[in-house]
Amino acid sequence: MKKVIYLDNAATTKVNPQVVDAMLPFYTEHYGNPSSVYEFSTPCKEAMAHTREIIAKTLGADDNEIYFTNGGTESDNWALTATAEAYASKGRHIITTQIEHHAIIHTGQYLESRDFEVTYLPVDETGLVDVRELERAIRPDTILISVMFANNEIGTIEPIKEIGEIAAKHGILFHTDAVQAFCHEPINVNECHIDMLSASAHKFNGPKGVGFLYIRKGLKLRSFIHGGAQERKRRAGTENVPGIVGMGKAVEIAQANMEENKKKETALRDYLIGRVLSEVPFTRLNGHASRRLSNNANFAFQFIEGESLLIMLDMEGICGSSGSACTSGSLDPSHVLLAIGLPHEVAHGSLRLTLSDETTKEDIDYTVESIKRIVERLRSMSPLYEDFVKAREKKEFR
Ligand SMILES: *Cc1c(COP(=O)(O)O)cnc(C)c1O
Repeated sequence: MKKVIYLDNAATTKVNPQVVDAMLPFYTEHYGNPSSVYEFSTPCKEAMAHTREIIAKTLGADDNEIYFTNGGTESDNWALTATAEAYASKGRHIITTQIEHHAIIHTGQYLESRDFEVTYLPVDETGLVDVRELERAIRPDTILISVMFANNEIGTIEPIKEIGEIAAKHGILFHTDAVQAFCHEPINVNECHIDMLSASAHKFNGPKGVGFLYIRKGLKLRSFIHGGAQERKRRAGTENVPGIVGMGKAVEIAQANMEENKKKETALRDYLIGRVLSEVPFTRLNGHASRRLSNNANFAFQFIEGESLLIMLDMEGICGSSGSACTSGSLDPSHVLLAIGLPHEVAHGSLRLTLSDETTKEDIDYTVESIKRIVERLRSMSPLYEDFVKAREKKEFR
């Protein structure tokens, strides 16, 4: 296999080998159904309880406020639709933002089709929600505010504590999609007045297909998946025991190494950003300069197509992501890049690189050299760039 430099950790991450080791016995040895009464299933029940405890502790929550799901998308769908249904008699207005993940945006659109009203708050050019604007959007019939903890494309970290305080002050429920932030940033649900929080194991070196929704005690949310009595009758279906065990192990490892990883990734990220901005002309950084996830860099290169850049990086073994065209199966650039005010043609030239704790300085140097070469080559073939250069030469000549 050729060398791969994996810089797409916002899309998914490598499962830590220790996590795999923790999971394996729950396929081959402790394979009982946790709902069964016999002793054979006891290790399954205990392991699930252990994961619940680990997660609750990191959030400052109670064990019985953690509900296992199959990941971030399910948790987001559950939080929004169940809140809408349970609190419809109080009001039918929901506030969220224009830069949420599609798991929130498309659920919001679904709720609009069921006669709910959804306000999608704009963000500033760095991707931040304006808390005063959020407070102004609150109406007597507002039942829920849902704002993501950190954005998956541009890495901007939202003022979650301030937003939670506003929600609490007005007696409105507050949900946060923390899929990118959980296990990467410290989070305390009480300090931030969070009532519901979504997370997903495969974004922090755990397995795919498992996550959780934190639901504060006392919220009257119905089950999202109907069936058996699992998860205190709130999420039916035989539990993904190996996945849940793996998630617990991944949380333990991530929490123990969080500060060290953040420091290391931030330094490499800033090295990457510094080199690209200074060595590739007509380039900007998307997202907030300092209030951003420690592993996220997102660039807009003028006069090129992000899609072409991705394909050429792939030929050099580099995995990145772009907020443009084909990746999303549509011709529109990413809704996030448009929301921060990038013109269409600039948004199309975007590249997201997201590091892991295994990324090295050599990986970054190799990537920067590749980007420089590829961007120059793509621009040399770009009629837009040619026109730009000609116009500039004319100006200088005069
Ligand atoms: C990845 C992601 C999701 C979806 O999570 P899955 O577990 O893949 O369903 C939701 N929100 C954000 C912010 C994400 O990054």
